[in-house]
Amino acid sequence: MALKIAIQKSGRLYDDSIALLRKCGLKVQNSKGQLKASISGYNAEILFLRNSDIPKYLEDGVADLAILGENIIIEKQADVQVIEKLGFSGCRLSVATPKEMEYTDVQSLNGKKIATSYPNTLRSFLAENNVEAELHIISGSVEIAPNIGLADAICDLVSSGSTLFKNGLVEQEIIFRSEAVLAANKSSLKTKSDLINDIVFRIKAVLEAAENKYILFNIPNSKINSVSTILPVLKSPTVIPLLEEGWSSLHTVIKKKDFWEIIGKIKEEGAQGILVVPIENMII
Ligand code: AMP
Repeated sequence: MALKIAIQKSGRLYDDSIALLRKCGLKVQNSKGQLKASISGYNAEILFLRNSDIPKYLEDGVADLAILGENIIIEKQADVQVIEKLGFSGCRLSVATPKEMEYTDVQSLNGKKIATSYPNTLRSFLAENNVEAELHIISGSVEIAPNIGLADAICDLVSSGSTLFKNGLVEQEIIFRSEAVLAANKSSLKTKSDLINDIVFRIKAVLEAAENKYILFNIPNSKINSVSTILPVLKSPTVIPLLEEGWSSLHTVIKKKDFWEIIGKIKEEGAQGILVVPIENMII
């Protein structure tokens, strides 16, 4: 049986989901408006579903795997297994109030009307904080609610914060931070473990590669030891002698986040001709 992978049929996660699958070597043969697509040369098919339907389809086993926002799994209280955070579509679920409203702490929400598309998550948050508020459940354009007199506050996803700003709202409480995740149906993890493990292996290799860079540079032989201590290498750096006596080329992998710091230090040690190359896949 083919592995069924659900992704958003449109919306924020669509492009990044397709791009991730392609980087994993899974070429989705889709055309606009299609609900299902096959993957050439691989025993899997893609289901294009509405974002808010994915958790239930995944829990019920209509899909074996899904790429979706963690926020929607939490909101739908779906009994599925989150396997991997995917590092894109980062956002936070926040409570925001009009800038002219007096706000000291979460208790300021007592007795207020809050518009949201995330009633379950908001209800739990309010209960944990002993706040009694009225929920106004709407499915979109939540940020407009205070302006049109529909609510006193809102609870919605925030990414850059520009939608809040444009609507004169101030972010007051961050309920949780979310990003796109790979999640699985719990029984598929047993019945289709080989296929799922293969996809997870590929995704991890792509994610790992995205966090790292391959660098190579020339260094006097007398500096190889001191420069090696600066490099947080996978095992130990590759050292290749240059034709020029007394010099070597040193190759290794470094974390993207440490990049500028390391480059500065190895330059001080005498590194020359530094090349930095992106990595497509990385299997540790
Ligand atoms: P922003 O102006 O970038 O803060 O985005 C806010 C708007 O985009 C809100 O209407 C949110 O509902 C929506 N939004 C932000 N991040 C996400 C996300 N990761 N997934 C789905 N919708 C989002």
